[in-house]
Amino acid sequence: MTYKNFSGKLEQNTMQYHSTLDEQQHVNFSDAIQAGLAAKGGLFVPDDFPHIDIDAFAGLISYPEFASTLLSHFIDTPISKHLPEICQRAFNFSVPLEALKNNTWMLELFHGPTLSFKDFGARFLAECMQCVTTDKPMTVLVATSGDTGSAVAAAFYQKQNIRVVVLFPEGKISERQQQQITCWGDNVLALAVQGDFDDCQRIVKSAFADEQWSTQTHLSTSNSINIGRLLPQVVYYAYTSLHFRTIHAEKLGVVVPSGNLGNVTAAYWAQKLGFPIREIVIATNANQPIINYLATGKYKAFATKQTLANAMDVGNPSNFARLEYLFPDFNEFKQNVSAIQVDDQQIKQAIKQAFEQDGIMICPHTATAYFARQQLNDEPWAVVATADPCKFPEVVEPVIGREVPIASQLVELQVRTHHQLNVSADLDVVTRSVQDYFG
Ligand SMILES: *Cc1c(COP(=O)(O)O)cnc(C)c1O
Repeated sequence: MTYKNFSGKLEQNTMQYHSTLDEQQHVNFSDAIQAGLAAKGGLFVPDDFPHIDIDAFAGLISYPEFASTLLSHFIDTPISKHLPEICQRAFNFSVPLEALKNNTWMLELFHGPTLSFKDFGARFLAECMQCVTTDKPMTVLVATSGDTGSAVAAAFYQKQNIRVVVLFPEGKISERQQQQITCWGDNVLALAVQGDFDDCQRIVKSAFADEQWSTQTHLSTSNSINIGRLLPQVVYYAYTSLHFRTIHAEKLGVVVPSGNLGNVTAAYWAQKLGFPIREIVIATNANQPIINYLATGKYKAFATKQTLANAMDVGNPSNFARLEYLFPDFNEFKQNVSAIQVDDQQIKQAIKQAFEQDGIMICPHTATAYFARQQLNDEPWAVVATADPCKFPEVVEPVIGREVPIASQLVELQVRTHHQLNVSADLDVVTRSVQDYFG
């Protein structure tokens, strides 16, 4: 396959990336993941969505092989040389599509070490960053609404020359999510921020804009603003939709529980690459931005509302910029993007119904998509299951009147020692804590 790069020269397999705010500057994958965020707060997007020969995937059965073949279109040296091993190590858990009743499937993305889909992106990014680190330590700043922090901490724990700072909103995540973030130590610093997720995300973005941080530190981020997190998420949509069509001779639609809109952006990218995804629907909680945009055509950030689906409590979703970039015209946006809002009462209703009718326990995030699916037509739909219900017993157990069995991954983390520092929602305070901890 060939692409034209910015100098007009044709090169083999060298996908470049540019910023949503600047189409003139191009960088390769290694530089894009290390930078995290493009200049002036832009987000990196691929220069091009190559036409992929889907038949090339027909004989590939294992998930890591599929991932490596697909991602090779997007990734250059030195990482590309190691891509097969990177995918073997990063995606060493199952990605099942389970059948439910009423032409509905459940795409279970929570079988990784920290029990949410965030493991796919975090583990892949950690492996890639390890390939390109130098002697100067890199500091990875990450804001979390609950699950990114644990996935990133677990994925980067004890990786050489990489320091991780996780900012989580104190008191706004579940106890088990917090345990999974604070149980590391060593190269992982957990900061409990007095504020909400948007405050955490703002501090990360302001560190990138800060003179001291950007000149003295080799800074990156592993939020879904990092392109290295999004690309591996494209893989499970590609893989699942292709297998579904092979088996059922039909196209699958997907309903994606969404907050920062990273996961659903990956679904749109998979569709854009030509994988057989019939339709994509966003399920949101009571947070408004995407619903409001679809209704008015004007994007507006909202104050974050706390809901039972806490990892989706985002009032100013970063990846909206990538979705808007994909569909710049509002009419085109509306033709392609639809969203269903699900409130806390409906989340509980869905958890109960899934247990009674389908005999399964689902997490409050997955519940938004489960509820939304029932508002849709009779075509085949996959409800995307984003986390294991055992991370949220305080929500799930009272609704179903049963104990949720704890996954073995969580039991292992619970016995570790826990460390966190409490900080106010202020970049200077965060900076001092980071300097004190890492010296
Ligand atoms: C992060 C998260 C979401 C939201 O995903 P986005 O990519 O931010 O839209 C949904 N469910 C769970 C369990 C999550 O951890």
